[in-house]
Amino acid sequence: MAEFTNPYAENDPFVEAHFDCLNCGGKLWEYAIQRQMVCEDCRNVFSTEEVFDDQARAEA
Ligand SMILES: [Zn+2]
Repeated sequence: MAEFTNPYAENDPFVEAHFDCLNCGGKLWEYAIQRQMVCEDCRNVFSTEEVFDDQARAEA
């Protein structure tokens, strides 16, 4: 079996994301494995696609 380095294996799986919660405006944290983001305030979970789509609309 080939070995590979999982960059998340030795770290907290949550990485800070530079997006605001779509619900309350709090800070979103990306859960890298699941391709999801969770809000540190209201604990809502969003897919990264959902957040990117919202961000794209805001910048349009
Ligand atoms: Zn929130």
